Amino acid sequence: MSESLLGMELTEIREALGPGHPQFRAKQIYTALYHQRVADLAQVSTLPAALRQDLGGARRVGLPEIAQRYQSADGTRRYLLRLEDGRTVETVLMPEDQRDTVCISSQVGCPVDCKFCMTALMGLERNLTAGEIVGQVLLVARDNGLLEDSTRLNIVMMGQGEPLLNLANVVKATRLLTDAEGVGIPPRRITVSTAGIIPKIEELGREPVRPRLSISLNASTEEMRQELMPITRKYHLQDLLAACKAYPLRPWEKLTFEYVLLKGVNDTDADARRVVRLLANLNAKVNLIALNPGPGIPFETPDPERVASFQAIVRRSMGCFIRKPRGLDIFAACGQLKRNEAPPWG
Ligand code: SAH
Repeated sequence: MSESLLGMELTEIREALGPGHPQFRAKQIYTALYHQRVADLAQVSTLPAALRQDLGGARRVGLPEIAQRYQSADGTRRYLLRLEDGRTVETVLMPEDQRDTVCISSQVGCPVDCKFCMTALMGLERNLTAGEIVGQVLLVARDNGLLEDSTRLNIVMMGQGEPLLNLANVVKATRLLTDAEGVGIPPRRITVSTAGIIPKIEELGREPVRPRLSISLNASTEEMRQELMPITRKYHLQDLLAACKAYPLRPWEKLTFEYVLLKGVNDTDADARRVVRLLANLNAKVNLIALNPGPGIPFETPDPERVASFQAIVRRSMGCFIRKPRGLDIFAACGQLKRNEAPPWG
């Protein structure tokens, strides 16, 4: 299989070119990949013809292909992208008035067995490379003209997969996405979400370039969390909160906790009060997500009044927002990414 250029940092491009090329060639290619965002280096007329041909053959840019697009009535678009090995993964674009959010995947499928999430039903197929993570952003941006105004663009690593179980590639992709001489998306506009892989949270905190951190809490007690998210039998709630307390937040940053509300399971006022107590000494806010249902998911969505009551309790102590479901009709909402069929578009 040919080795893709996308995903390489400047030093790696330099190495790949080998001796016999002037120093500035690597930078030219880096700029073409991440700043001009070409799909094919044959388009870069400033490169010598022989090199263009070589790079167009043995080494390709390596953007994924669009296998299918699905368009929601609410404007959300779900993309099924085909990777170099033929596997497919999903990326979601959520356009809003003030901003566009691209939700990208970090793995094909997911090894974390959360009982309310459809991606869990896929199991893990493989990790994505840094190039495949960056490629999702570049492709969806190109398909929708998004990077013209990069101040509108937000990236959330909340698609398929557990990003912190693919941390090296996620961090490398973050460096490539944030580099001002490359894609140029500020780190504060990128968020990574984790089910709570504690040692990896500590590792992420040591990275000089890292996205914002969001943590899927999803329960107010250790017992319930272990039931809903079996991986937390290994990564306990109290240790998670201690890692959150120690996490080196930047001056502009808060931790976000996501909490999926399951009717009659974790959505009572008592749960809300426990959430407040758990997060009391953290610089945190909470995003509530009423369950997005789907085939194979044995839970129900709470009524809006229940969600509002939960929010009202948490909001007395910290920021607490209700995440509006996007793309429910095309299986694009949180927890629905499982390559589900829907009427295609485009
Ligand atoms: N594995 C990471 C990244 C996925 S983010 C993580 O767990 O954080 C996906 C978010 O959607 C998580 O906060 C998860 O709790 C939430 N979620 C999963 N299934 C859901 C569903 N069916 N309805 C609503 N939210 C869900």
